[in-house]
Amino acid sequence: MPSRKPFRIGRSRTGLGLFATKSFRKGQTVVEYSGRHISSQEADRLEDEGRNSYLFAITKKWTIDGSSRKNYGRYVNHSCRPNAEAIMRHTGRLEYAAMRRIEPGEEVTVDYGKEYYRIFLQERGCLCAACAKRAQVKRSGIKRSKRKASKKRGKGK
Ligand SMILES: [Zn+2]
Repeated sequence: MPSRKPFRIGRSRTGLGLFATKSFRKGQTVVEYSGRHISSQEADRLEDEGRNSYLFAITKKWTIDGSSRKNYGRYVNHSCRPNAEAIMRHTGRLEYAAMRRIEPGEEVTVDYGKEYYRIFLQERGCLCAACAKRAQVKRSGIKRSKRKASKKRGKGK
């Protein structure tokens, strides 16, 4: 399949992620979040059954079921300090657009919102780069000596 896409799917810190392969200007669309439109009731049901974590509520009545592999938007991970945001276009397309300039090689991330955070991330902790950095700073304050020691031992492969 010839690929003209301005991104690639690759490994990120939290599994698979979506990475820019070209630069994006602020406001430019990176990827569409596509899928069939289902009613909120059906979305609730799927969520309760824990069968689908790619549901994107677009209005009170409608949700996009983004679980199809053809939906590249599903690979965009959550970040508490994202570089893209979801925008509903007049065409009815839901798109992730750059919030600032994005350089080739950068992982594209969006903020999944408070509810997602509360349900999926609060308990086990968010793994996004911003949170990891914060955690590291906190840890290094407490366990500095330990980290230094393990570094000395040369745990590099
Ligand atoms: Zn985070």
